[in-house]
Amino acid sequence: MAGENSEKVHDMHVLITGGAGFIGSHLAERHLALGDQVYVVDNLSTGSLANIDPFRGNPAFRFAEADILHWNGLDKAVAWADRIYHMAAVVGVKKVLEDPVAVMATNMTGTERLLRAIHHGGWNPQVIIASTSEVYGFNANSSFAETDHIVLPSAGRLRWAYAVTKLADEFLAFSYARKYGLNIVVVRLFNTIGPNQVGHYGMVVPSFVKQAVANEPLTVYGEGRQTRSFCDVRDTVVALDRLAASPEAWGEVVNVGNDQEISIRDLADLVVQRARSTSPLQFISYKDAYGEEFEDVTHRRPVLNKLRALTGFEPEWRLSDTLDDLIERECAKARRVA
Ligand code: UDP
Repeated sequence: MAGENSEKVHDMHVLITGGAGFIGSHLAERHLALGDQVYVVDNLSTGSLANIDPFRGNPAFRFAEADILHWNGLDKAVAWADRIYHMAAVVGVKKVLEDPVAVMATNMTGTERLLRAIHHGGWNPQVIIASTSEVYGFNANSSFAETDHIVLPSAGRLRWAYAVTKLADEFLAFSYARKYGLNIVVVRLFNTIGPNQVGHYGMVVPSFVKQAVANEPLTVYGEGRQTRSFCDVRDTVVALDRLAASPEAWGEVVNVGNDQEISIRDLADLVVQRARSTSPLQFISYKDAYGEEFEDVTHRRPVLNKLRALTGFEPEWRLSDTLDDLIERECAKARRVA
C-alpha cells in the first residue's frame, strides 16, 4: 500500500488494550504485518481468542488475558510501548442497556488508569484513545464535525451512558495531554464494519449479513429511514496508524470513518441483493427492539476534513465490497457448520 513505509517507525512496540476485540485485532494484524512487536491485553468480555488465534504462534505477539481495571502488568507494558491503542471498552448499545455499571467502570476508570500509567512511565509513547460518534449525542444534524456542539438529554437516560463515558475519556485524555505533554490523539469512530465484528451486541451489518445468508428476515428497526456511514475496519486501522504518527494530531480529537451514507432500509436491500438471498425485510418498532427508553440517532455521517488534512486518508473499501467479503465469510462459516 502507498505510504506504508513512511508510516512505519521501525520495530515498534505496540500495546493494544482490547486487542482481542473487533478493531483491536485488526490493529494487531496490521502491526504484525509491518514487522512490529504487538502486546495485546484483553479480558475477553466482548473480544475472543478466535480473533487473535492467527497470531498466537508469532514470536512478535504477546497476549495477556486481564482486565484493564486490575491488570498488574500495566505499568511494565506501558513503559515498554512506543505506541498504545486504547480500545478496551464495553461497547454496543444493547450491552450498554443491559449493564450500565460495567460500562461506566471499564470505560472511565480503565482509561484513567492507563493515562496515569503513561504519565508515570517516564516515556512518551504515541497514544490513540478510542472515542465514538455517539458523543455527538441526540443531535438532529445530518453530519458531524469535531467543532459541533454535543446534544445530550439531561433526564438520566441510560441509553446515553456509553456516550457520557466516552466523553469523559476524551476530557481525561485532553487533560493529561495538556498538563503532562502526552502525545495523545482522540479518535471518534463512526460505524466501523468488517470481519470479526459480531451481531449479538446489536450492530446492524453483521446482523443483516447473518440473517441474509440464513434466508431469515432482516430486522429493520423503525422505518429504516435512519442513515449511517459505514467504514471498513481495514481502512480504519490505516487512519489510526497515521494519526498516531502525526505530531500535528497530538492533543486533537479527530473523526474517523467513511462519509458515504446509506439508509438502513437501503442497506437491508443491498445485503439481500449481494447475498442473493430470499430474506424478506421485517420492520420492528424501536420499542420492541430496545425497550421504552431508546432514542435513535437519525443520521450519522462524519465530516472528514480534519482527518484528510492531517493524514491524507481516503477510505479504499466500498460498502458493497465489504458486504461481499462478509457474505463470503458467513457462507464459508455456514458450510463448516453443516
Ligand atoms: N438496526 C437495525 N436492525 C438491527 C440492528 C440495528 O435496523 O438488527 C439499526 C439501528 O436502529 C440503527 C442502525 O441500524 O439505526 C445502526 O445500528 P448499530 O447498532 O449498528 O450502530 P449505531 O446505532 O451505534 O450507529
